[in-house]
Amino acid sequence: MDFESVAIIGGGESGIGTALLARNKEKKVFLSEYGTLKEPFRLELIENNIPFEEKGHSFEKLKKFDIVVKSPGVSDDVEIVKKLRDFGKDIISEIEFGYYFTEVPIIGITGSNGKTTTTGLIYHLLKEAGVNALVGGNIGKSFARLVCENSKCDVYVLELSSFQLDGIRTFRPSIAVLLNITPDHLDRYQYKFENYILSKLRIVMNQKAGDLFIYNGDDASINDYFNKGQASQKLQVIRKENYKSTSLSTESGELFDISKTNLKGLHNRFNALCAIEAVKRFGLSFDSIENGLKTFVNVPHRLEMVAEINGVEYINDSKATNVDSVYYALEAMEGKVIWIAGGTDKGNDYSPIMDLVKSKVQYLICLGLDNSKLKLVFGNVLKDIFETQSTREAVVMANRLAQNGEKVLLSPACASFDLFNNYEHRGNVFKEEVNKLKSELML
Ligand code: ADP
Repeated sequence: MDFESVAIIGGGESGIGTALLARNKEKKVFLSEYGTLKEPFRLELIENNIPFEEKGHSFEKLKKFDIVVKSPGVSDDVEIVKKLRDFGKDIISEIEFGYYFTEVPIIGITGSNGKTTTTGLIYHLLKEAGVNALVGGNIGKSFARLVCENSKCDVYVLELSSFQLDGIRTFRPSIAVLLNITPDHLDRYQYKFENYILSKLRIVMNQKAGDLFIYNGDDASINDYFNKGQASQKLQVIRKENYKSTSLSTESGELFDISKTNLKGLHNRFNALCAIEAVKRFGLSFDSIENGLKTFVNVPHRLEMVAEINGVEYINDSKATNVDSVYYALEAMEGKVIWIAGGTDKGNDYSPIMDLVKSKVQYLICLGLDNSKLKLVFGNVLKDIFETQSTREAVVMANRLAQNGEKVLLSPACASFDLFNNYEHRGNVFKEEVNKLKSELML
């Protein structure tokens, strides 16, 4: 790719990563931010002599750069992006930009749910086996920053969002993992599910013979839209029959028993099998994979065990911001559940979880500003529905309702912005309240 200058739209982690990499490669660079930059990012730009603007974009300036890199958070519909595109600029993502400067193999992971878990597990298995892997992308450090900081490693393990994939042109992961596709972020895809599906499938558009594509063989959208007939890469289809029990069976016939690991539930068995097949390409032995599975600890807020109070387990699944992830959370629960849900509704269709709710949920505690939809949908199905806007109250109520052996599950199916800053904040408040209650009850 031949260019001397780079303009960057958006000053978050990916924009700053791009700026640092561009500066490191001695390109002329300019970063433009619509709002205000976070202080650490502003300092990084100043320290590295990277010019930038805030509180608006200067079209006349930006149009003079050879290439434009847009942050994934900036929609295609914003004025400056439209103007630059009309002016004839191709606008790429930071993932594409980072790719120009490395030949290290890449494992790319995408999907609507399970990206972070699977990315973290692949990275963990590789590291435990002594492979010099680096992890980032849509989590932690941006890919461009990783490339800038570490020119030498064995493999990059990258979580990829659909917004990042929209802006790739030549990016080619040697191993691509596509976990599932369920409706999400449709506001950025003209409210057409098809557009979102096609965006996810971009992860394999540049793969060649010798590359590997691991995907969910039971996912209708992938099956409908991925053209197997034209595929040149090796296809590794993961099917339910291979992970229906806690003994996962790989393509080559090995069995991995994960019953004693932290990977609970059908969805995590699926994620684990995808991860195992991906790392096997790096020649990891059976024993080293098995050891890695045992020592894996997921990031917080995904079916995270918080505490046990009087025989009742409290589980924080605050990251479950859509119906699909609640499906898998309920599926993973042994015993009856006091379900805490609610928040900002994203146009949820609850029908896929109706049967599970009927069979597993004792009571629903709605934790949100407007709980009318949950009450309407589940009003006739459950013994009782309670409402609160306070996490403390929700936890105390759950404690009163739960019987020995039952679970209290925060798995909201909704965004958190009505009552919290984000899902991490919601999960942390829940954990605090559970632990507070536990210590109060022990006094
Ligand atoms: P992502 O990074 O794609 O948001 P996470 O690993 O952070 O995925 O998990 C998000 C939510 O989805 C959690 O509630 C988790 O329990 C659930 N989840 C994880 N893996 C899957 C899967 N394969 N299918 C459906 N839900 C999943």
